[in-house]
Amino acid sequence: VDVRQKPNVEDSGTQRTQSKLTDEPSEEIGVASDEQLRLLIDGATEHAIIMVSPEGSVLTWNDGARRMKGYSASEVAGKHFSLFYPAAEVQSGKPLSDLETAAREGMYSEQGWRVRKDGSLLWASVTITALRDSTGNLRGFGEVTRDLTERLQSVEEVAKLHDDQERILETLGEGIVLYDVNVDGKACFQRANSMASQLLGVDLPSLKAMAGRSMPQLDICDALGKPMSRSDLPYAVTARTGQPIHDFLWQWSGYDGSKRWFSSNSQPVLDSSNVMTGVVFSIVDVTESHEARQALERAHGRYSALVEHSSDVTCVLDVDGIVRYASPAYLAVYGESPSQRVGRPLFERVHPEDQAMARDLLALVLEKPDDLVTIEYRVVHEKGDVRYLEVTAANYLDDEAIGGIVINSHDVTERVVAADRLTRAAMYDPLTDLPNRSLLLDRLRQSITRAERTGIGVGLLYIDLDRFKRVNDCLGHLAGDELLKVVAHRLRDQLRPGDSIARLAGDEFVILVENIDDVRSTQEIAERVRQSIVQPVDIHGQSISADCSIGIAISDGSTADVLLQEADTALYRAKDRGRGRWEIYDQDMQLDAQRQMDTELVLRHALDSDRVVVHFQPIVALPSGRCVGSEALVRLIDENGRLVPPDDFIPVAEDSGLIIPLGFQVLRHACLQQAKWLTDQTGKLRVSVNLSARQLHTNDLVSVVKGVLDECGLPGSALCLELTETALIESTDSTQQTVRDLTGLGVIIALDDFGTGMSSLAHLRQFPISIVKIDRSFVDGLNRSKGDTEVVKAVIGLGQALGMEVVAEGVETETQARILGELGCSRAQGFLYGKPGPAHEMISAD
Ligand code: C2E
Ligand code: MG
Ligand code: MG
Repeated sequence: VDVRQKPNVEDSGTQRTQSKLTDEPSEEIGVASDEQLRLLIDGATEHAIIMVSPEGSVLTWNDGARRMKGYSASEVAGKHFSLFYPAAEVQSGKPLSDLETAAREGMYSEQGWRVRKDGSLLWASVTITALRDSTGNLRGFGEVTRDLTERLQSVEEVAKLHDDQERILETLGEGIVLYDVNVDGKACFQRANSMASQLLGVDLPSLKAMAGRSMPQLDICDALGKPMSRSDLPYAVTARTGQPIHDFLWQWSGYDGSKRWFSSNSQPVLDSSNVMTGVVFSIVDVTESHEARQALERAHGRYSALVEHSSDVTCVLDVDGIVRYASPAYLAVYGESPSQRVGRPLFERVHPEDQAMARDLLALVLEKPDDLVTIEYRVVHEKGDVRYLEVTAANYLDDEAIGGIVINSHDVTERVVAADRLTRAAMYDPLTDLPNRSLLLDRLRQSITRAERTGIGVGLLYIDLDRFKRVNDCLGHLAGDELLKVVAHRLRDQLRPGDSIARLAGDEFVILVENIDDVRSTQEIAERVRQSIVQPVDIHGQSISADCSIGIAISDGSTADVLLQEADTALYRAKDRGRGRWEIYDQDMQLDAQRQMDTELVLRHALDSDRVVVHFQPIVALPSGRCVGSEALVRLIDENGRLVPPDDFIPVAEDSGLIIPLGFQVLRHACLQQAKWLTDQTGKLRVSVNLSARQLHTNDLVSVVKGVLDECGLPGSALCLELTETALIESTDSTQQTVRDLTGLGVIIALDDFGTGMSSLAHLRQFPISIVKIDRSFVDGLNRSKGDTEVVKAVIGLGQALGMEVVAEGVETETQARILGELGCSRAQGFLYGKPGPAHEMISAD
């Protein structure tokens, strides 16, 4: 739009006063040749229509002229028409040259500035027509003026808009090129902003100079690198078709030869009647983002190859958990093809117990898109087996390329199974598959916590098989294992719902009884347990009948470990009281147990600090009363110097295993003493040493005995080892061999406390027993109880028949000695002949 500079009003005013034109006489005005024409002219109020003389003096003045320019007809009559021109134009002689042009050309038209009477300017469309008569003589000029000032104002606004547009265009970060579109749909470059000039490498003035012309052809290629002709370029296409084109990617190697990538939009510009008048073509340099994107796409390609070939399963879910994509590995884990799952919920395939967890996972990544959440859940394979997956979920909803939740799952079944196996190994006994001690304690702790809340008691049954060792020793370990399995099975059958059972060690089992309303219920269970165990078991074709002892403890706020200890204490009591029974823990047991622990401590100290002493009691021949030997009887000296009798500590020594070192000390002490007596020639023929069952089971007993004999220079026959009935009854092949080997050393074997074990002597014949000692309880009843006398008589008879020496223990009175002598008993031992005492107190042999 061409806008003329508005002339200065002052100037025009000044100019007017300086006008050289002179006024013309007014009388010449108003002569109309044709009345109608005059009316017409006067009626054309929008137009100023005036006639001027060939020299330019105003001849006529219509009403339109008055309204437009402010002068009345009389005021302007005869004045020179240059009066209406701005001063500068008058000065340059334009008014007269306009007339000359009109005279020459017949007509002169222009749009230009004119001056009103009040000095204000108006923008006018002016046509000056030369008026000639029929002979061609110039009679004057007609001038028709139209006020365009108002239009001009809108033009100015447009111009301002144009300026604004220009500024806006400049502020845009992208290159903008505007094209005009001509009638045959050709785009014609109009202008561009400086960003466009920068991008295209043409300076703005040169670019502006190209307006209206076609731009030079650039070597533009499309996204695929194919050269494009000018008519293929988006703005040309839009100009031709009227269709916008978006995000058109093209490349151009610029003037400096460096390849750049551009993205363009082309948009038609429509006027108010929707006719396309131009095209806006935008250019953005996307080289960097495009190259980054290409790199990303290459990476994406690599990643998708990874996903496609990975053994991990990758699924893309929508917000509802519906599978949009599943990688090929899906087939192996789930047993259905990925395409079968697309469009359906993934979590349908999750193990029912884990589905809630899976849904929580989805909710979490939806809620916190930046978090990467990992959990483990189970899925069920088509064939029904369960797989463990480690699942990571990530929210890629905002990622254009993915647009979903990515669930990556790694099959960790083997790891879980291995870990499970380890946990099982740590928690379960492999032989019986029962929980072990640590799992029991775990459960017990939980039960106790629950019991504290509910106030309902918890009980423990500590079960130990009686004489299980014999099964192991007699039938072998496989049989022992077999028996344990059967027992485990039977015990399991006795459980009430909610109760549990564990195997602690060897032949020890524990039943954890929940919800005990009263003690009787545990006793009933204990009785049932015993009944189930005593049923004969067939193992490797042999029928075994087992039995068990049971210790029962009921929680009264004690900890798990304490409760287990209490049940163990009760068990100990049950064993102590003859096995095959149950005992309920009470405080006294605890005291007993405490006492035993104290005793054990005393025993250890005594062993360590040489406070084990051995007393000797003479054994005499009957009826002479001549001393033929002695029995070594052990005592301890406690911290206060008091003598502790063996009945107080031998059981503890046996339980704790301390009987082994203790027994050795006694043996060695006795033998050293016996060696002295022999060299003293005091006639002490033999020393008897008590041997506990546990010692009999040590592998090196024979070599230990031999070592002591050798050390003391004693023949084996100077030593008698006293064994109890139970020790022999519980003996095995190997202990029997031990006994035989001992006799091989010349050592004499005595059967101690005979009669208390209720075993038949005949049964004991298989052992190389040379001496039988009648228990003192029978001797005690000799002259009072007929039964006791009969027993003593029978034993003596049988001993004689079997060629054994019979010793009567606990002979306190002459009467007992006399009766024994009459019954044919050859040896006696008792207070009558001497109490046990230190070696030096031993009476002499004669
Ligand atoms: P035992 O082997 O039967 O020993 C005889 C016990 O009877 C001794 O008791 C002895 O003092 C006691 N006694 C002897 N004559 C009489 C009597 O006329 N009247 C009464 N009332 N008692 C008499 P002690 O010394 O208390 O020993 C008890 C048990 O301790 C022994 O019974 C034996 O089984 C065990 N014992 C003693 N020393 C040892 C040892 O060194 N090793 C092992 N394993 N056991 C031992
Ligand atoms: Mg004895
Ligand atoms: Mg005895």
